[in-house]
Amino acid sequence: MGKIKILDNITIQKIAAGEVIERPSSVVKELIENSIDANARSIVVEIKNGGKTFIRVTDDGDGIDEEDLPLAFKRHSTSKLNKIDDLYNMMTLGFRGEALASISSVARLDVLTKTSKSAAGIHAQLEDGEIKSMEKVGSPKGTTIIVKDLFYNLPVRKKFLKSDTSESNSISDIVNKLALGNFKISFKFIKDNKVIINTIGNVNSKEIIYTILGKDIVKGLIPIEYRDENIELNGFISNNNLYRSNRSHQYLYINGRYITNYPIAATIEGQYRSAIPINRYPIFILYLKFNPEDLDVNIHPTKQEVKFVNNYDINGIIGNIIKKRLFDALSVGKFEISQ
Ligand code: ADP
Ligand code: MG
Repeated sequence: MGKIKILDNITIQKIAAGEVIERPSSVVKELIENSIDANARSIVVEIKNGGKTFIRVTDDGDGIDEEDLPLAFKRHSTSKLNKIDDLYNMMTLGFRGEALASISSVARLDVLTKTSKSAAGIHAQLEDGEIKSMEKVGSPKGTTIIVKDLFYNLPVRKKFLKSDTSESNSISDIVNKLALGNFKISFKFIKDNKVIINTIGNVNSKEIIYTILGKDIVKGLIPIEYRDENIELNGFISNNNLYRSNRSHQYLYINGRYITNYPIAATIEGQYRSAIPINRYPIFILYLKFNPEDLDVNIHPTKQEVKFVNNYDINGIIGNIIKKRLFDALSVGKFEISQ
């Protein structure tokens, strides 16, 4: 008999889950992104023990139809993508149809959801990626997902989790990033019954930065507003008196998605070379809008990286915008001081 066999479904799921769900903060990221895609106006994240035993994300978004619910937890099932071309016109954060399948294969789930069309809500319980029960219940419109005992069936993964404090710091960081990028939505983060982050929604970028990063940072920011036929760049960069010893205060959003992009960060930092001390990093919170057709968002399972197609010189353009704004702002500053 040959040696090769096809893995059973739950083993395949668990292997695939490893790519998307690394730690509790990956669960929180995926659930919040789903809530944002579902047009939520308010998102509440609650965790216990660094998210290892309990994560609950509640939104007031569109909800999931009863007939869609079993599908939502299957792999490669999504309401956001129909064909490969849609990838290049992607305005939703999700599209891979992997998150719920992955989370449900490595944790116990409770789902409560109601759409505006249906009279009652549905409560479903899942284990090992399978729906164990489904019943009609009273519920407000929206979706609540409770994730219990993450990695209960992957002991090695579980062992690699860090302390409760580091895991909750990582969650707090994700909530901050998503709240900064989606300031029309109100976010609440509750850790072990204590409110850690609370944003009110329906504010502008400056107000959300004030709430999340504080007034000392807001005081040292220079606004950026730029638009041409290809890009729109808005947000703030720090002046020459405001910097950090690491890149923790660098936030870049492309078409609403939080992105890490080393070349863009390096380009921005390059403009500060003679303005701030060596080994110090500028702060930026930048919102970039770019034609989705010229952007590849599908280069990494966690979708935190993008590629600019057609060799568009995004670095050169951002570098010039920042250089000019920084120069103008600093010259104005000097002029004011000498008056
Ligand atoms: P993706 O976000 O890539 O589509 P997911 O596995 O994260 O894949 O979610 C699968 C589907 O479940 C989504 O396409 C969406 O239709 C539905 N869904 C998930 N979370 C929510 C939510 N909070 N509100 C409404 N629908 C949701
Ligand atoms: Mg998703």
